[in-house]
Amino acid sequence: MRALRLVSPGKIEIQDVPIPEIAPDEVLVRVGGAGLCHSDLHVLHAPEFPVLTLGHETSGWVASLGADVTGFAEGDPVLVYLVWACGRCRPCVEGRDNVCVNQGGRLGMPPCPGLGPDGGMAEFIKVKARYLEPLGALDVASAAPLADAGLTPMHAINGARHRLTPGATAVVVGVGGLGHMGLQILAATTGVRIIAVDSSEQKLDLAREHGAHETLLSDGGTAEAILAGTSGYGADAVFDFVGIQPTVDLATKVIAPDGALRFVGLGGGSFPYAADSLTTPLPWGVDVRRSYGGTRADQRQVLDLARLGAISVETKTYSLDDGVQAFTDLEAGQVPGRAVIVP
Ligand SMILES: [Zn+2]
Ligand SMILES: [Zn+2]
Repeated sequence: MRALRLVSPGKIEIQDVPIPEIAPDEVLVRVGGAGLCHSDLHVLHAPEFPVLTLGHETSGWVASLGADVTGFAEGDPVLVYLVWACGRCRPCVEGRDNVCVNQGGRLGMPPCPGLGPDGGMAEFIKVKARYLEPLGALDVASAAPLADAGLTPMHAINGARHRLTPGATAVVVGVGGLGHMGLQILAATTGVRIIAVDSSEQKLDLAREHGAHETLLSDGGTAEAILAGTSGYGADAVFDFVGIQPTVDLATKVIAPDGALRFVGLGGGSFPYAADSLTTPLPWGVDVRRSYGGTRADQRQVLDLARLGAISVETKTYSLDDGVQAFTDLEAGQVPGRAVIVP
């Protein structure tokens, strides 16, 4: 089969590889869609990374089942849940499988297809049956990004619900794949006023289509504009889907007292924390979360919202042969919503 493989730092290409053989508890999935994520770019440019098939947002149809698999039939449309946790440890049984003890531990993360095990940018992917979610009537190709671009904002938002009350203000920084889904989830599940921030006018247009009440082009005056629009008090929640230094600075400058500061994007920005009143940039009561992926329950909620028609992914599709071009377009910031490879 053909697969889009990371072959050396900075280099991806289409290769012919064997169709994976499945174990008794695994399913072979014929890929229907594989989304591209900024984390794929981080992997692509990492100084050292094993050779692997990329793609951690995967949907498709059951092609064959291992001997022990029940509950699925050939042809069933499925989504691949990306957190391959143990399912047995204390966090897992508490519903915090994204921070599994046994598969991830204190500073790691559970295995994720396309970032360790082979991912979905190929004609087939093998997956343990217990990591599959039935898609039902959802369109298979455009559902693929729900595995990360849907899941990850849902987790960040679910962890900030106590601040997302009617009358509150939420700021979404970065209207890319995750950001445009985060806006829709906020609009569909809360009564907050939503301000979207991006450096691209085109992406702010997308933000207005997907639930932003106000949009701000990020420039030197963004923080002042948000503060002015909240009587100087700040935003009750800030979701930073970018994480570069200017967006981290913006987030810490505009968060309100008791606010929920949620960092999702891995852009390498930082801020100093000081345990005093004189030098800390943060108001009292702010809670900061380094939000990773999402739980199985978050994934279900995303799928249910999509089935209701309350959220949907804006996709730009590419054939597998055009996969390298898709990466080039993503890197150039020229993909509105999510790029999806359809093999
Ligand atoms: Zn991702
Ligand atoms: Zn676990």
